[in-house]
Amino acid sequence: MSEPKKSPARDLLETPKNGLDRISDSERAEMKKFAVDYRHFIDTCKTERETVTHTIELAEARGYKPYVRGMALKPGDKIYFNNRGKALFLAVIGEKPLDEGVLISGAHIDSPRIDLKTSPLYEDSEFAFFKTHYYGGIKKFHWVNIPLELHGVVAKKDGTVVNVRFGCDPDEPVLVIADILIHLAGEQMKRPAAEVFTGEALNALVGSEPAHDDDGADRVKLAVMSILHEKYGIEEADFHSAELTLVPAMNSREVGFDGSMIGAYGHDDRICAYTTVRALFDIEGTPAHTAVALLVDKEEIGSVGVSGMSSKTFDTFMEDICEGFGVPLRVCYENSCCLSNDVAAGFDPNYPASFDRRNASRLNYGMGITKYTGRAGKGGASDASAELMARVRKVLDDADVVWQMAPLGAVDVGGGGTIAGIMANRNIDTVDAGVPVLSMHSPWEIISKLDLYMTYKGLHAFLTSK
Ligand code: MN
Ligand code: MN
Repeated sequence: MSEPKKSPARDLLETPKNGLDRISDSERAEMKKFAVDYRHFIDTCKTERETVTHTIELAEARGYKPYVRGMALKPGDKIYFNNRGKALFLAVIGEKPLDEGVLISGAHIDSPRIDLKTSPLYEDSEFAFFKTHYYGGIKKFHWVNIPLELHGVVAKKDGTVVNVRFGCDPDEPVLVIADILIHLAGEQMKRPAAEVFTGEALNALVGSEPAHDDDGADRVKLAVMSILHEKYGIEEADFHSAELTLVPAMNSREVGFDGSMIGAYGHDDRICAYTTVRALFDIEGTPAHTAVALLVDKEEIGSVGVSGMSSKTFDTFMEDICEGFGVPLRVCYENSCCLSNDVAAGFDPNYPASFDRRNASRLNYGMGITKYTGRAGKGGASDASAELMARVRKVLDDADVVWQMAPLGAVDVGGGGTIAGIMANRNIDTVDAGVPVLSMHSPWEIISKLDLYMTYKGLHAFLTSK
């Protein structure tokens, strides 16, 4: 029998291979260790504020110092800037001058959730409820009949800020948005999925026991308010100056008999936040370029506001640093490069029509690179240049990173955006990168450990590139 023929042209073709078939045993062990660290992070950080607080603890333990305007900096210095407790910039000053540009890795730390309205507490039929206003793009039916925790802050007129984290302890009660029983759901079941629940119907059940020391109206509401006063020292009007949010009362778990995947709330985009800060923290010595990590708020509602990526806060931070070295900000920006780290839509074979199989990211095929996002004819996309794509390919291949192209689904089925366009508008070359996810924006999203680890490895290679 003769050998099968093989044309030399075969080598011109790409032969994608599952990342789990490509890594060594020692790298597999690293990957598993990294997954354990990540699970601790994702279970600790359920909101943008909690992410900032926890990341500052991690940063300070590694020698990062709060940056104050005018501070003298030199190569090797490690700094962070806390933007109002809701966004965080970190940097390691590099060897090269800032007019040669900085390398930026940016992720967002807000996730879809159910916010409380500003006057949330009411009573109806001897139940107490919270009125809510959902945050970000969700399928509302996902968030009904699942246990919910309450997280956030209440700022009081005396200047104190009370932290709320209720329902995390397994012995603590949880809150829930109840559904109508199937037996009486004839009308509801005929509605299109987007209308099964209206936003105004997402009222969270928060109590049913009346106050026993009162004969007036709304005794259940009164009893709930008493409990909140006892626990947090707040009164009803304090809800007007609060940021309280309901998130799934579910911690991360390994998924699959092989434990190869991780399910958790808020992979989008705290998985990219974690890989970003770990990539920064694990830089040994002084990098060539100044390395900057951004953890920003409000991406899920358009990156607006003072803590979002559109805010001038970032420009101010960068300008202050540049000024210290006598470098104009615009010169720094025009030579800088940014990976906008956000999760990608992983191919799900149960919904093939939503994807183009030949142009889709797959779980276990590594870090995703997304040249453009957008909607209907690339609308709203920041389409990274061919030259930038080539630069990123080289960095990742030289570091043996398992990575893949990660376009956002089939043409004309939907779309989305990231902070990429906002960074590019600053005259910074930017491309999207991140971890492929299944069930994105659901209360419990799914990723693979291989992609998590490879995204970390890819970001580290990028931040330390010459
Ligand atoms: Mn995202
Ligand atoms: Mn998102």
